Amino acid sequence: ASVALSRIGLAGLAVMGQNLALNVADKGFPISVYNRTASKVDETLDRAAAEGGLPLSGHYSPRDFVLSIRPPRSVIILVKAGAPVDQTIAALADHMSPGDCIIDGGNEWYENTERRIAEASRRGLLYLGMGVSGGEEGARHGPSLMPGGSLEAYENVKEILHKVAAQVDDGPCVTYIGEGGSGNFVKMVHNGIEYGDMQLISEAYDVLKNVGGLSNEELAAIFDEWNRGELESFLIEITADIFKVKDEYGDGELVDKILDKTGMKGTGKWTVQQAAELSVAAPTIAASLDCRYLSGLKEERESASKILKEAGLKEDVEFVRSGIDKKRLIDDVRQALYASKICSYAQGMNLLRAKSIEKDWNLNFGELARIWKGGCIIRAVFLDRIKKAYQRNPNLASLVVDPEFAREMVQRQAAWRRVVGLAISAGISTPGMCASLSYFDTYRRARLPANLVQAQRDLFGAHTYERIDRPGSFHTEWTKLA
Ligand code: NAP
Repeated sequence: ASVALSRIGLAGLAVMGQNLALNVADKGFPISVYNRTASKVDETLDRAAAEGGLPLSGHYSPRDFVLSIRPPRSVIILVKAGAPVDQTIAALADHMSPGDCIIDGGNEWYENTERRIAEASRRGLLYLGMGVSGGEEGARHGPSLMPGGSLEAYENVKEILHKVAAQVDDGPCVTYIGEGGSGNFVKMVHNGIEYGDMQLISEAYDVLKNVGGLSNEELAAIFDEWNRGELESFLIEITADIFKVKDEYGDGELVDKILDKTGMKGTGKWTVQQAAELSVAAPTIAASLDCRYLSGLKEERESASKILKEAGLKEDVEFVRSGIDKKRLIDDVRQALYASKICSYAQGMNLLRAKSIEKDWNLNFGELARIWKGGCIIRAVFLDRIKKAYQRNPNLASLVVDPEFAREMVQRQAAWRRVVGLAISAGISTPGMCASLSYFDTYRRARLPANLVQAQRDLFGAHTYERIDRPGSFHTEWTKLA
């Protein structure tokens, strides 16, 4: 008797794979699943049964798994990025036929995807590198999907991806990103932007707590309120919730008991490395990465805090605090956070544009902002405005000069400067907000002190300079004239 073949397959049943497989099945697409370690197949089968018998079939050998899928086969892989993906492909590809497609949904380095696209094509296989954002919850109920690579492969699964993705007012949070490793690259920059957002929120928290003296209860209320305005977003929403959770082991809230050392998996670092490679300034994202590194030096910071404490920090904080209008501070911090965030997105978008030009990906920035409106970690109401900014002008030089955003930046300047100034006076570091503000201040200045740097370069290295009043390249014998 012939067994009905599945519409699609998924290999790799850890957090992401299990949930995405259930999501696909839940949308009515029969799915085959496989995992190197058999127990995860059983776990997934149990969950599918517990959820009312979702159309999901478990397989324990790569061959059975592949052959259980209807040709042309589409197989999503969700394993640890790097060598595990190559090993999984090696196990599956022998059983696949020309025209079948591999879809890697991991946080993969885009060049690995480009190498695998070439390798797959030698076997006649199609390949997609698909960024998946939204964590466990997103994978189960609607992630943001960023598939890049073979357009034909995308067309084969478009129907499924459209149903599985998060749904927002203007459609599912998925679009064909472009060729090659563009889907992974876009996901990487999404994560870099996520680093920036999280850093900026933590700085807003720091200023409100340590300069404003706000309690966790007050912070929860403020973030709840912010989540009803221009800052409305997943990260602001979860931050409000975090402040409400009591510590089960003692007094107070859990947030105060968490060790101040940040983990990371590498996509933020890649984003900053790529920005440097492409000569794109991304200071807010870089500051967020640096802060994660500094946070890791917990013991050094503890000893430095003793050595450098005499600098009068405590008195400064008290002095700053004494002159503060709490209500005004809260409103200023909201504006500083918003303006800093726009600068950070401008940096991420400009990095994507530089890469798109280098690789000829033809990225559609309005579409990228649209598919980030739901499902993913950076989902936010203001992404709709970013979408519209790029629709108004696909060649926008920077988000900050879009007429609407420019107006908002100018309106928020004074509050932004007050917050950063206060924080500096109080010795509370706000590297993300400072980086955004100096990015803004540098970008909006028609003339920078770079003339002096050019003069220095010409003096010691005969690197030549250009003049503001006549064309050509000049060199001066500076030391003879001085
Ligand atoms: P993970 O912890 O990154 O990886 C575990 C999975 O990889 C298991 O299924 C494991 O199989 C498999 N695996 C590891 N080494 C293998 C090998 N050499 N050969 C075959 N399989 C191997 O899982 P995850 O957190 O679900 O993430 C999957 C991918 O999605 C990653 O690229 C991750 O960066 C990305 N991602 C994760 C999140 C998230 O919130 N977790 C969000 C977005 C994207 P065994 O069970 O046999 O060990």
